[in-house]
Amino acid sequence: MMLQGKTAVVTGGSRGIGREIVLSFLHQGASIYYLDLQEGEYLGEYQKLAQEHGAQAFFKEANVADEERVNQVFDEIAKEAGSIDILVNNAGITRDTLIFRMKTEDWKSVLDVNLSSAFYCSRAVSRQMIKQRGGSIINVASIVGVIGNAGQTNYSASKAGLIGLTKSLAREVASRGVRVNAVAPGFIVTPMTDKLNEEQKGALYSQIPLGRLGDPEEVAKVILFLASDLSSYVTGEVLKITGGLGM
Ligand code: NAP
Repeated sequence: MMLQGKTAVVTGGSRGIGREIVLSFLHQGASIYYLDLQEGEYLGEYQKLAQEHGAQAFFKEANVADEERVNQVFDEIAKEAGSIDILVNNAGITRDTLIFRMKTEDWKSVLDVNLSSAFYCSRAVSRQMIKQRGGSIINVASIVGVIGNAGQTNYSASKAGLIGLTKSLAREVASRGVRVNAVAPGFIVTPMTDKLNEEQKGALYSQIPLGRLGDPEEVAKVILFLASDLSSYVTGEVLKITGGLGM
């Protein structure tokens, strides 16, 4: 088990890609804290799996865009767990529309939830990771933060911002053994992409060399690689998980 004895914090862990990240970490022996707006349906399943692997799973209710709450939660986790070895900044939202229709609140809320949250959470763990001379932070960006997407100026700006945060923080903490990387998924089958109609999906498939949407497990596997020692010489990278879209 690659994460035995490690403690991981995953934001947005109650469904979608976050759920698959939590499951893949639990299968590798990590203890998990997932932060989300709601507990969701799976805490019992997470706890059972954790127990089977000699670990633990906890839920902490937190809006990750709320700086004060984030600081409070990370203080609690540090006290309870003793160390935090892995942070995955996964929580994210979309508020899609063309820029001339976009309300300022839709711009701000997407930047707050997708980007400022990663700043708050990374700041909260970085001091401890530096002190313990090790840790892995993974930011869930998006291919649209690299290539852009009409109707997503707010979302793609937030994801491009995450990529900049990743590279700068990677440079700040590398000498202390802390690694910081990002993933840039393409179109993955989750409630976020369920909103696309068949016509939109068809148009998408034609642009994806592998000819299909991705599964959340396929994102989680790459994040597991970045969380584990398999990637011990990888930092400041942005790994695309897109079936070839945007290569
Ligand atoms: P999802 O199914 O909508 O799950 C997102 C999770 O984050 C939900 O549990 C949600 O809670 C939680 N969340 C939202 N706002 C939050 C907040 N302020 N504080 C704490 N938790 C919050 O989305 P997903 O598709 O799994 O996406 C996960 C990440 O992958 C996101 O960063 C997304 O941008 C990125 N991504 C997704 C795709 C894709 O195709 N799906 C592609 C590229 C990148 P509620 O359920 O209560 O809202």
